[in-house]
Amino acid sequence: MNECIFCKIALRQIPTDLVYEDPEIIAFRDLNPQAPIHILIIPKVHIATLNDLIPEQAPLVGKMILAAQQIAVQEGIAIPGYRTVFNCNAGAGQTVFHIHLHLLGGRNMNWPPG
Ligand code: AMP
Repeated sequence: MNECIFCKIALRQIPTDLVYEDPEIIAFRDLNPQAPIHILIIPKVHIATLNDLIPEQAPLVGKMILAAQQIAVQEGIAIPGYRTVFNCNAGAGQTVFHIHLHLLGGRNMNWPPG
């Protein structure tokens, strides 16, 4: 998608603080962090929302979660704990319409999130 900011990040057309990359996934620090550690894990392929996922993309989403697991270890938050979040559509707070897994840690978090 030409105008998608996360597609541009995946193509390395916009600089980011990159923390992980493999052939299908890229992860970078959020520009407006909501926790001491706030990383976004995205597929390189454009998928607008979780509602647009198809069954064939299940392995890709699994790899995103495994990337989060690996990054959590790298960042030292695997043992203390971390939160992973997909926001789907505006009512849930989605502002960038290219799926992304938020990885948040480094502070205690409340539940329910509100
Ligand atoms: P969401 O509200 O779930 O769609 O999350 C989008 C996230 O992308 C927000 O936390 C933004 O701060 C973050 N964001 C937007 N543009 C960039 C960027 N260029 N680099 C890093 N994070 C970004």
